[in-house]
Amino acid sequence: MCVEAVCCSCRCLSNKHQQDRRRQTDTDLHDGKHTDVPPRVKENFILTGYRFPNYSLSDCLLSAFRPTNETGNFWTHFLPVFIFLYYFVEVFGLEGAPHSDSPFFYPLWNYFIGVFCLLMASSMAHLLNSMSLVVREVCFFVDYGTISAYTVGSSLAYYYYIHPRAGIVETAEHNGSHMDLKYEPAGAPASFYAMPEFTMFFETFYIPSACVVAIICVLSCCNTRQKWRQHRYIIRTLVFLLPFIISSTPVFYRLLSRSPYATTSSSFAASTTMPTFFFRHCLWLLVSAVFNISKLPERLAPGRFDIWGHSHQWFHCCTFLSILDELYMIKAEVMAILLSPTLLLPPAAPSPLPGPTIASTYGVMLLLQTTIVSIIVWFSRQANSIYGPQIVQLAKEHAKTHLKCH
Ligand SMILES: [Zn+2]
Repeated sequence: MCVEAVCCSCRCLSNKHQQDRRRQTDTDLHDGKHTDVPPRVKENFILTGYRFPNYSLSDCLLSAFRPTNETGNFWTHFLPVFIFLYYFVEVFGLEGAPHSDSPFFYPLWNYFIGVFCLLMASSMAHLLNSMSLVVREVCFFVDYGTISAYTVGSSLAYYYYIHPRAGIVETAEHNGSHMDLKYEPAGAPASFYAMPEFTMFFETFYIPSACVVAIICVLSCCNTRQKWRQHRYIIRTLVFLLPFIISSTPVFYRLLSRSPYATTSSSFAASTTMPTFFFRHCLWLLVSAVFNISKLPERLAPGRFDIWGHSHQWFHCCTFLSILDELYMIKAEVMAILLSPTLLLPPAAPSPLPGPTIASTYGVMLLLQTTIVSIIVWFSRQANSIYGPQIVQLAKEHAKTHLKCH
């Protein structure tokens, strides 16, 4: 065994000995210490449970069922996929809902794509990142990319369902506190926006801004894996505050202006829960940021939360709860629109804000995803040139360490 380990060390990533050694070390490394792995893999205050970055795909997949320090990270974003799906499909059963493939639901499907990709990419990144240092980098680039795509999916849903909603034209007929809303086919009255100064922003800049900020976030977060390492958690958290602020502007606008629904209408009643869900959404995001930056609770007792209960798992739980509250908020607004079918413009009607089309929803998402993929490919090449040569060296050192241990 020892002779094998020595003679295979030079070609350990490609020959059969490496395969055998990998199998053998698998059981040893599932509780590997922070001193056994490359510095790149170490997490602050996590002392054990490390996987050495030389796993095969099947080893990685099987490690989901073994106690490593990534097991909880995987399950806390993989199981929520199904919980999210369960609550998401309820929208199509709402009273008055059109068929799920109607243009009305295009923004909602883009929101679904954003959340689904975010949760799947995050869970898979945690599961597969021990294949190699380069794969580890790529996994996290993909993770950042999907977070950004998710913010644009949210923006599309906010834009079309919260405010200003495409296809809904408001007439300025006030009757005391009652505001009459009805279909206005020929253009929009000047009072379409309660705060007209925001007209230009929402109609022209909102979605493009969300996309540009999302791209800036991917670039910044990918960069923190190669530079600015010391403050990476703060930078990543702050960088994602910006898209939150931009994408939430329709909600802020809505909270600051009057409701577009008559106070006696069932739509008004349906949308009254929107602010509560939004504040809860913000609260969960805030708590998740606190966990991500503070590294609590493992900071208080290094080594005690290595497998279960460390900050990244709480971070995942809180981000998912924020997504669930966001979904409830969007559902409340969708329900409000569906309860006022007269507010929905026929597709052919002229409107300053055209209704959702394939180009304005899926097209935007496709363009964004293509850009993000290009960024990820560029950073992955960089990572390969940095970490590729280190892999052979690391495997050599690891083989030597393993030899000494036996
Ligand atoms: Zn994560």
